[in-house]
Amino acid sequence: MPNWGGGKKCGVCQKTVYFAEEVQCEGNSFHKSCFLRDLLQVMLWEEIWTKRLW
Ligand SMILES: [Zn+2]
Repeated sequence: MPNWGGGKKCGVCQKTVYFAEEVQCEGNSFHKSCFLRDLLQVMLWEEIWTKRLW
């Protein structure tokens, strides 16, 4: 049972995550925007590394 009362922290920005904007991944909570930004950065890095291997 999640602890709705208090203090879920975003794994990216460390600020409080409210229910409406929460994304859960592997037991951690994130803001939707933070999660997407993080995901995009990972994808971007993979793309950069892939392009380096031309
Ligand atoms: Zn965040």
